Amino acid sequence: MEAPRLYSTKPVQSLKPTKKIPLEEDLGKASDALPLPLYLTNALFFTLFFSVVYFLLSRWREKIRTSTTLHVVTFSDIIAIFSFFASFIYLLGFFGIDFVQSLVFQPSPDVWIAEDEEEDNEVLLAKEDARKVPCGQALDCSLPPLPPAAPIVTTQKVCDEKPLMVIPEEDEEIVKSVVAGTTPSYSLESKLGDCKRAAAIRREALQRLTGKSLSGLPLDGFDYESILGQCCEMPVGYVQIPVGIAGPLLVNGREYSVPMATTEGCLVASTNRGCKAIHLSGGATSVLLKDGMTRAPCVRFGTAKRAADLKLYLEDPDNFETLSVVFNRSSRFGRLQGIKCAIAGKNLYIRFTCSTGDAMGMNMVSKGVQNVLDFLQTDFPDMDVIGISGNYCSDKKPAAVNWIEGRGKSVVCEATIKGDVVRKVLKTSVESLVELNMLKNLTGSAMAGALGGFNAHASNIVAAIYIATGQDPAQNVESSHCITMMEAVNDGKDLHVSVTMPSIEVGTVGGGTQLASQSACLNLLGVKGASKETPGANSRMLAAIVASAVLAGELSLMSAIAAGQLVKSHMKYNRSTKDVSKASS
Ligand code: ADP
Repeated sequence: MEAPRLYSTKPVQSLKPTKKIPLEEDLGKASDALPLPLYLTNALFFTLFFSVVYFLLSRWREKIRTSTTLHVVTFSDIIAIFSFFASFIYLLGFFGIDFVQSLVFQPSPDVWIAEDEEEDNEVLLAKEDARKVPCGQALDCSLPPLPPAAPIVTTQKVCDEKPLMVIPEEDEEIVKSVVAGTTPSYSLESKLGDCKRAAAIRREALQRLTGKSLSGLPLDGFDYESILGQCCEMPVGYVQIPVGIAGPLLVNGREYSVPMATTEGCLVASTNRGCKAIHLSGGATSVLLKDGMTRAPCVRFGTAKRAADLKLYLEDPDNFETLSVVFNRSSRFGRLQGIKCAIAGKNLYIRFTCSTGDAMGMNMVSKGVQNVLDFLQTDFPDMDVIGISGNYCSDKKPAAVNWIEGRGKSVVCEATIKGDVVRKVLKTSVESLVELNMLKNLTGSAMAGALGGFNAHASNIVAAIYIATGQDPAQNVESSHCITMMEAVNDGKDLHVSVTMPSIEVGTVGGGTQLASQSACLNLLGVKGASKETPGANSRMLAAIVASAVLAGELSLMSAIAAGQLVKSHMKYNRSTKDVSKASS
């Protein structure tokens, strides 16, 4: 068996895609069709060639000696001439043409080539791109039967000249076929039945196609089966984000250690300081005001009158029970709570709100909405469904409807911070905080025309917790809507602080929440998975934790700004003086 091929690893800066060499299997060999092994066939034709040459020469000499005319041939002469041509053509094909080809296409010994071949590469990449288009649509992308995988060894670095990858011979063929476009990258998981191996092959093919190294992006240490069909398609590795812990955060009498996935220096330290101030002041209180996920399809009629007819029908309390029976068929957790309509001419936007248990609920609500739309077609056959989502929902975009009506969990969270704590822990005063909040979070945001952005940095905390706990980070847009209020209380000695967040979209089941790392973070908070006692209790608790952590973050950042510490602390935590070269070695 041949040794697995080692890919050499030149410095990243000079990596360029190699010149595309016609692969042997691309050209196809005549030998593939032979009934005998190649060496036997070669031996046969060699022997035949020299035998008939010897025979024909002897016959020629004999004819000269006997003065026989050359064109008088016997049956054996004909056979010999035929055999001569056959063996000549054979030998020409297998040696001559291959030899000529080897001169024409000089293969580069390396996967990566240097800068000076850039021009050739561009032409080649253009060709590659052109070939990539039909792949998976027009071409036959079936693979030969695949032997079981030998382990693929990866190391972390390309730059230090260590080998990047050892690709087993059988995988090497698949990598080549992905690079050539004959095997679609997306089909690797289903064809191989091994998600890790598929990711390794895709990654290697990607590096060859782009000429860019992925050495810093780890491949090992991740369960690729767990994301198949739900979290991420065509994986080539995973991004590492550090998780820091802020806390204990005391909310409604319980302590939580809050995981925050972030690369922003200061953020965890600052939130931690806010948690300390809250804890020393007796904790925060969080109240859930609403819990309902929304989806709003857009439907169109021939006239505005017909659109209005449907609006009146949907908003009539007498019809609600019928509609909720239809809607609730979609899930045992999805329960229709209300329908709110908006008309634009002949178009109607129907905002359905439903409870979703411990799931964030987008899938659930969409299924319920589809049930109702199918049902409505009977009484409103002229209704044209434009789309299951008409942006009046409104998902992952800043929108006043979420700010006013709420989406997901609407939460208010408060704490009274003792004057002493404001001075000793937050290093500022109650008056400074109240004044800054009024001028920055309220007036400043009003001047900026903010939509739900009446806070200092709610999205910092929301994003970090969302990434750590497997939420949809794109929903940070509306989940970070927050108004922060600060007021002097107890004769001006203490600070009352609150955050009101109308659209926190979180779940503890579904999506990324079941992945190992994210699940561990949910477990740390005691809200992993579905609540056994009360469906929805875990996701509601998570929303309360998010809001309370935002409260801590607001307190700390506002204090830093009030005390003029912001730039100083960022210089300390964001501008490390560590010698990076030593650290990496
Ligand atoms: P989403 O609607 O947030 O996208 P998914 O549809 O991915 O969520 O996940 C919800 C799934 O989890 C549903 O199939 C639902 O039946 C199931 N499930 C199990 N327990 C619960 C629970 N306590 N709350 C909500 N859904 C649950």
